[in-house]
Order: sequence, then C-alpha cells, then structure tokens
Amino acid sequence: MNIQQYKMSGRPICLRVTRACNAKCSFCLAPPDNLLIPVDQIFARLTAIRKLGFRNVDLCGGEPTIRNDLNQIIDKCIELKMIPSITTNGIHIPDSLLVSLAKTKIVKVSIHGGKDAHDKIVGVPGSWLKLSANIDKMLKAGINICVQTVVHADCSNDLDDVVKFCLEKGITLLRLAPFVPRGEGKNVKEQMTLSAEERKALITRSRESIEKEKLNTRWLNFSSPMFVIETSGDLMLEGADEENDICIGNILDLVK
Ligand code: SF4
Repeated sequence: MNIQQYKMSGRPICLRVTRACNAKCSFCLAPPDNLLIPVDQIFARLTAIRKLGFRNVDLCGGEPTIRNDLNQIIDKCIELKMIPSITTNGIHIPDSLLVSLAKTKIVKVSIHGGKDAHDKIVGVPGSWLKLSANIDKMLKAGINICVQTVVHADCSNDLDDVVKFCLEKGITLLRLAPFVPRGEGKNVKEQMTLSAEERKALITRSRESIEKEKLNTRWLNFSSPMFVIETSGDLMLEGADEENDICIGNILDLVK
C-alpha cells in the first residue's frame, strides 16, 4: 500500500510524540529510545503530515500524556484543521489537560484486565485505580473515550473483566488489538501469540457475547501495515514485525 492509498482509506497517520512512558508493559510495541523531541519539531512534523494531505492523526507514544506540552500539540492539530486522537495508558491525566482532550476525536485508553491483572501487565502497582479514576474524570468532562485492549493467548478472563469495566463505566466502544511481536513483545512471543484457533475462538466470542452486551467492538489489524512517524522523524510503514518495516524517509524531507 502506498501513502496515497492509505490516506484514501481514512486511517490516521500515527505520530509518536515520545517513546518515554510511565509504564512497563511486557508487550510494549515501542519501548523507550531516549530521544527527546522539542515541541517545535512536533509542530513541523504535524505541518508536514498536513501537507501530505492527512487530516486524521493519532498522537501516540510511548505515553503522550507525560509531555507537559501536549495541550499545545493538540491545539496545533486544531489550528492545522486536523482531527487528533490520542492513545494513552490513562495513568496520568492532569486536570489541565481535560479541555484539550475534549477537542480530540477520541481518547483511546489501554486496559488489559481487572485490577490485579492490569497492574501486573502494565508493571505499575496502582495503575488500574488511577486509570479508572481518570476515565471517570474524562467522561464527566464530556471526552469521547474508547477502551483498547491487547488480546493474547490466555487472556479470556482478562477480556471478561475489560468488558465488565466498559459496561460499568458506560463506555460503548471496545477495540481489540491482537498481540504482535514487536518491540518488547519479541521477548514474550511464545507465551502471547494467539494461535489461529485461539484467534478464531475469540472473534466468535466477541461476536456472540460481547456484542450481546451492546458493546461496539472493533478488531484492530496490526498485521495490516500502518504509517507511523517515529521519534527520529522517519515515516515508516510498520506491520506485525519490525523485520519487514519500510522506511519511506524523513517526514520533513518528503515535503520539501
Ligand atoms: S505499551 Fe504503551 S503504556 Fe505500555 S509501556 Fe509501551 S508505551 Fe507504555
């Protein structure tokens, strides 16, 4: 798929605003790289994305909310007439961010089970309680939220808890992201990769059970390559494993 076809599909381009994170998930797709990106660089990359004709941009990481200039980044998207969405682990949502988050299309919060299972996967005790309180706060502020969860081998019970969480909070959109062995995920490939049978069973279950609960579920397909601007500024076409990634070039050079 080339960038024009991708753009026509309406899928967002992902902009990694940092790779730093306040969590330590065992399957992290994008572990820290120690690169600090000045906000002016982020603005330049957003302008380049717009010049390439994209309106939809997913501000992702790492963890976007640990940048204390995320308000400015969202405002820059709006100024450029772009439609930002954000992917977050929900651990750190300061009150000062709520007005800006309300301007985004959607805030995708990653949850991976009930309290104990989630904290174990994320590697930060107390993270589930924080994200739960932050979701309440965001819902009260009128922010559009969906829950995103990684589905992997042996996650059935965790999935039940995620569904329960959505129903209790009144969140109607659940995005299911099958595990892919990128980044740290390569170290847990054997334990976490879904077999074809497991994947089929989960898809059937999501249709029969989850949708019965009036949840709008969507399976993400990370095997279908997506365009990502890495912290280096390189525009990458990334798929299920890093070996097959394609570097298109630095985003700023592409619009010169
Ligand atoms: S998966 Fe997301 S929340 Fe977890 S360590 Fe990686 S960037 Fe942080």
